[in-house]
Amino acid sequence: MKFRTREEYHADLRAMRRNVFKNGKFIEDIVTDPDTRALVENESLTYDLLQDPRYAPILTAKSTLTGETVARWHTLMTCAEDLMMYGKLKKLHFHKTGICCAGVCTGWNTFNVLWSVTAEADAKYGTDYHKRLEAWVRDIESKTHKVGGALTDAKGDRAKKASQQNSPDFNVHVTEIRDDGIVVNGAKVMIANAAAFHEIICIPGTAYKENEKEFAVSFAVPRDAPGLTLVQAEGCEGRQGWDEMKYASMASYLLFENCFIPKEKVFMCGEWDFSGSIIARFTANYRAAIGSCMSGHGNVMVGAGALMARANGLSANVFREKFVDMEMINNLVYGLGLGAMLAGEKHPSGAFYADPTLAHANKYYLAKNYAELRRICQDIGGGVVENGCLPNYRDCTDPEMGPKIMKYIQGNSELSAETRARAARLCEWFTKGAGTMAFIHGGGSPDGARVVVRMNTPIEEYVQYAANIAGITEKVEDPAKK
Ligand SMILES: Cc1cc2nc3c(=O)[nH]c(=O)nc-3n(C[C@H](O)[C@H](O)[C@H](O)COP(=O)(O)OP(=O)(O)OC[C@H]3O[C@@H](n4cnc5c(N)ncnc54)[C@H](O)[C@@H]3O)c2cc1C
Repeated sequence: MKFRTREEYHADLRAMRRNVFKNGKFIEDIVTDPDTRALVENESLTYDLLQDPRYAPILTAKSTLTGETVARWHTLMTCAEDLMMYGKLKKLHFHKTGICCAGVCTGWNTFNVLWSVTAEADAKYGTDYHKRLEAWVRDIESKTHKVGGALTDAKGDRAKKASQQNSPDFNVHVTEIRDDGIVVNGAKVMIANAAAFHEIICIPGTAYKENEKEFAVSFAVPRDAPGLTLVQAEGCEGRQGWDEMKYASMASYLLFENCFIPKEKVFMCGEWDFSGSIIARFTANYRAAIGSCMSGHGNVMVGAGALMARANGLSANVFREKFVDMEMINNLVYGLGLGAMLAGEKHPSGAFYADPTLAHANKYYLAKNYAELRRICQDIGGGVVENGCLPNYRDCTDPEMGPKIMKYIQGNSELSAETRARAARLCEWFTKGAGTMAFIHGGGSPDGARVVVRMNTPIEEYVQYAANIAGITEKVEDPAKK
């Protein structure tokens, strides 16, 4: 199969309706705009890798639908090894860019989740969602499209349910059901890299009850569909020269205002009793594979820390125990994620899902240890890598003041001041800037992970193990509640 190239991808983005809002205007060309070009560069990289035979084992796979060799991020994950390749693809991207590649992650996971859920819903309700989903996957697969996944609603007041909010729009919902499709309103927020996608696939952000079935909706929508506006969140704007990172990840708010979704792209409409399965399966695979992301990111942070040590004039060896501490964290989350994949189960629809308890434990440890990775990287680099401690590129290259500033930025006498400035900016970007990744809340909050582990902890069974070993024969029950 002929894969889309970066040039064709850029042409696709340029042909889209102007619906990405930033700095009081709709961006004319997101490929070159200074506020979005690093995002597009980030998502373009996968198209470059796809053309390179060295990466074919990771980037490509046999389509479960056509048997052809296709971009891996359009294939169904049918076994633990497929899930591991999901993680490996993400880790490779982190090694190349240091940051998140949502265009080959969130959409992929989302349609894999819908694969089983649509099959179950069809079996119960006689709907034809699974057939529609399959046709849609064939389409994006044949075009090598970039697709994002959107779960997170604006939510409004966190203490209230969707139906209790001041406005139903806090959660995306169906406002009209027609013969040819549905109309949706509301907002999905913080959707990673969404401006750089061809399409976005939306699923419910929580489990809904029967009285909230208008919120139990899933559909695919072109990024530039009429009725959909993207608002870019603040990230890394206005940077120049070595202040600007080549690759960036940027989140968008998706505002749906009477957005029409044709029937063939609707994969759930009111089947509230399946919304919980969507969340459970999405988080299982996402939280297993996010260990690959954080370990890839963490490996680059080790590299950035070593660069900084050398740019400061020290051997990286001085900090070897600190690098070991960082690698312990990287291996913990990578390995726990792999374990969750290996302990996963195949669904009768053919899709494969990671073990939820291990995946959620992984998310918890990842969120908890992320700050430690950043702390060590800053510790090694020195004050210059902390926020606001390095003059900017413009001043450092000022014809008069630049040389005077750069004289004092130099560390190691064998290396240029620019090298030290670049290494410092990268460490700052990873540890305090827009290069810090969503390892706390991405894919859901750590407290949510604890809830799953709590629910899956069979205390009574474990009490019995302990009692047997201790030779306790009388029943030891919890004291009655007073
Ligand atoms: C950089 C980034 C990229 C992202 N990319 C995507 C994406 O591509 N797609 C996508 O769908 N989402 C994405 N997200 C969103 C992410 O999934 C959410 O941030 C996450 O689910 C947490 O939701 P929230 O931000 O609304 O936090 P909140 O729900 O406001 O949670 C904040 C805290 O309050 C707690 N809390 C919330 N409600 C309650 C309650 N009722 N009772 C007790 N405690 C409560 C939570 O456990 C948490 O500790 C991204 C987030 C980030 C930061």
